[in-house]
Amino acid sequence: MKILVLGGGVAGVSTAWYLSNSGHEVTVVDRNPSVADETSFGNAGMLSYGYTNPWAAPGIPLKALKWMMQDMAPILVSSSAINARTANWMLQMLGQCTEEAYRINKGRMLRISEYSRICLDELTQEVPLDFDHRNKGTIELFRDDEKMVSIGADLESLKEGGVEHEVLNRESCIHHEPALANVSEKFVGGLRFPKDGTGDCNKFTKGLADHCLKAGVRFLLNTEVQSLETSSGKITGVETSEGYLKADAYVVALGSYSPLLLNPLGFRLPIYPIKGYSLTLPLLDETCAPQSTVMDEAFKVAVTRFEDRIRVGGTA
Ligand SMILES: Cc1cc2nc3c(=O)[nH]c(=O)nc-3n(C[C@H](O)[C@H](O)[C@H](O)COP(=O)(O)OP(=O)(O)OC[C@H]3O[C@@H](n4cnc5c(N)ncnc54)[C@H](O)[C@@H]3O)c2cc1C
Repeated sequence: MKILVLGGGVAGVSTAWYLSNSGHEVTVVDRNPSVADETSFGNAGMLSYGYTNPWAAPGIPLKALKWMMQDMAPILVSSSAINARTANWMLQMLGQCTEEAYRINKGRMLRISEYSRICLDELTQEVPLDFDHRNKGTIELFRDDEKMVSIGADLESLKEGGVEHEVLNRESCIHHEPALANVSEKFVGGLRFPKDGTGDCNKFTKGLADHCLKAGVRFLLNTEVQSLETSSGKITGVETSEGYLKADAYVVALGSYSPLLLNPLGFRLPIYPIKGYSLTLPLLDETCAPQSTVMDEAFKVAVTRFEDRIRVGGTA
C-alpha cells in the first residue's frame, strides 16, 4: 500500500518506520528542512512509563486558581490567549478532574506507556540508535510532608497497573541521585520509577529517520500540507506547497496542527497546543548533575541527564 505520513515529528517518523517494516511504500511530508524540528526538538527527554499522570486530576481546579497568583507556576494562562477554543478545552479538562475520570485516564496512560516501553526496548535492539538513552529511573521529588502523604491514591493506581515504584525518604533519594546531597534541605522524599528512562527525542527521531531512508522511506521536506481533499468521508488527496499528492492511505501526525486540517472535515480531535520551555546546558561538574530525571513536583520542572548535557524543562 502507498501511505503518506503527514508530519515528521517523533510520531510521524516512528509510524513511517513501522509501516515500512510491514512492507508498505511510505512517504513522510514535513514543512521543515529536517525532521523533529518542532515539538520533538527540545522536549524534557523523559521516557515516563511509570511517572505518567493525567494533568486533569482531582484538586487541579483549586490549584489552578493558586497558580494564577504564583510567580513560578507550572501552568500559566495568558488572559490574552483566552478565546472560545481555549475556554472549551479548559471546560473539557475540568470535566476530567473527578476521582473516577482520573482513575480511568491514569490506567489508560499506564497501559499505553508500558506498551511503549516494550516497543522501544525491541526497537533499540533491532537498530542502532544513538540518542543518549539511559535506563536509570525517574525520581519525583516532594518538597513537603503534606505532598508525601497525599500520593496515596496514586500508589493505589500504580499497584493496580503493576507499575514498579519505590517510596523514598530523603537519604534514599540521595542514594539514587547523589547530586541531591547538594540541596538536601529542599526536599523531604520522593517517588521513584526504576523502569523509567531518558533520551534525546530529537536525536532519536533523526536517527530513526536515517534508518527509514535506508529502508526506502521517502522524505518530502520543506513541504507544507495545505489541505486534505475528501470524497464520501474518505481522504483522497493532499494539497501541498509542492503540489498535489495521492496515496492509498494517509496518516495525520501533524502534532498540535492536526486539528487545523482535520476539524474542518468533521473530526473533533481533542488536541490543544501548549507552549513549554526547555534549556539544554553542557555538563560542567559531574557531582552536581542528576544521573537520570529528577522531577520537582512543586514546580513541575524536570532536570534530565543526557550524556554530557543536562536539560531543564517545564512551565506550560
Ligand atoms: C517543553 C516540553 C517538554 C516535553 N517533555 C516531554 C518528555 O519529557 N517526554 C515526552 O514523552 N514528551 C514530552 N513532551 C511532549 C512531546 O515532545 C510531544 O508529545 C511530541 O514531541 C509530539 O510529537 P509529534 O510527532 O506528535 O508532533 P511534532 O513533533 O510537533 O511533529 C509534527 C510535525 O508536523 C509538522 N507539521 C505541522 N503542520 C504541518 C503542515 N501544515 N505541513 C507540513 N508539516 C507540518 C511539523 O513541522 C512537525 O515536524 C514535551 C513537550 C514539551 C513542549
